[in-house]
Amino acid sequence: MVHRHPPEEDHVKLLVTGGAGYVGSVCAAHLVEAGHEVVVLDDLSTGHRDAVPDGCRFVEGDLAEAAGGVLAEGFDGVLHFAARSLVGESVQRPELYWEGNVIASLRLLEAIREHGTPRLVFSSTAATYGEPEQVPIPEDSPTRPTNPYGASKLAIDHMITSYAAAHGLAAVSLRYFNVAGAHGRYGERHAVETHLIPIVLQVASGQRDAVQMFGDDWDTPDGTCIRDYIHVDDLADAHKLALQHAEPGRHAIYNLGSGQGFSVREVIEACRTVTGHPIPAVTAPRRAGDPAVLVASSARAQAELAWRPQRTDLTTIVGDAWRFTQDRLPV
Ligand code: UDP
Repeated sequence: MVHRHPPEEDHVKLLVTGGAGYVGSVCAAHLVEAGHEVVVLDDLSTGHRDAVPDGCRFVEGDLAEAAGGVLAEGFDGVLHFAARSLVGESVQRPELYWEGNVIASLRLLEAIREHGTPRLVFSSTAATYGEPEQVPIPEDSPTRPTNPYGASKLAIDHMITSYAAAHGLAAVSLRYFNVAGAHGRYGERHAVETHLIPIVLQVASGQRDAVQMFGDDWDTPDGTCIRDYIHVDDLADAHKLALQHAEPGRHAIYNLGSGQGFSVREVIEACRTVTGHPIPAVTAPRRAGDPAVLVASSARAQAELAWRPQRTDLTTIVGDAWRFTQDRLPV
C-alpha cells in the first residue's frame, strides 16, 4: 500500500460518506474551506441534497454498493459519517442497524482495502460506552452499549482495529458526545427530531408548544440529566486533526466533548436567554435508557491531536443553532 503525504502538507482528495447529513455536511464544508477536494457519497435516506456543501462533488448512492466504484478513482482518505443513528429505532428494528451500519461499513472497509485508500476517520459515539462507571469518561472505560445503535458503532470500531492491524490502515475513531450548534447554513435537520437543543428551539420558533423534560428526579444538582454539548465546528476541527495524525497500522480512538456538563434545565435556560422566548417546559417521565450524567474526558484528543474546543460556552452553541433555525423558517 502506498501512503501519500499527510493531509496537512497539501491539497488532498477525500471521500465523505454521509456528507448530506448534519455532522457530515459540516465537516465536508470545513474540508472544502481548507482547500481539499471533497466527494460526498450519500443515499439521501436521512440527509438532504441541499445540505451537500458547495464545492463538493456529490454521488448519490448506497454506501455498500457504491463505495468501491468511487474509491477506485483513488483517494487520500475517507471520513465515514453515513449511519443510522436513532436509539429508539435501533431497539425496535435492530436489523436496520446491523445492515445499514455494520454490513455497509464492512463493505466500505473492503473497498478501502481493495483500492489502497490510506486513511479513515470514523464517526463513532459515546453510546459505545453505555452506562458509565466513571465520569468524565476516558477511552479505556468499559464498552457496554445499552442499545443496538451503540452496539453497531462498537462493532465497526472493532472491525477498524482489525483492519488497521492486518492491512496497515491509518485509522481514527472519534467518539462524539452531544453534538450541537451549526456552521452557517449547515446544521441539524432531522425528519424525526429527538435531540434536546433542536426541540427546545422548535418551541422558541413556534413549531411546538412546550418542551418535555424527561425526568426531574435524577441524582443531579437540579434533578435533570447532564450532558456534554460539543459545538459541531469544534468537532470538525478534530476531524481535520485526526486526518493529519492518523498513522499507518494504528487505530486511535478519541472521545470528543467540551468536558463540561450542562443539565436539561440549564440548556432550556440558555435557549431562553438566546431567543428571548419564555419556552414553556413540562416535566415528563424518564426516557428509557438515559444515564443521569454523560461527560467526556477529551484529555487524549487534547494531548495527542492538540485539539482544543473553542466554542464551549452554551450560549455560543445555542446561538449558532438558533441562527440556523431562524434562517430556515418560512418568511
Ligand atoms: N431530553 C429531554 N427532552 C427532550 C429531548 C431530550 O429532556 O425532548 C433530555 C434527554 O433525556 C437527555 C438530554 O436531554 O437527558 C439530551 O438528550 P438528547 O436526545 O439530545 O441526546 P442524548 O444524550 O440522548 O444523546
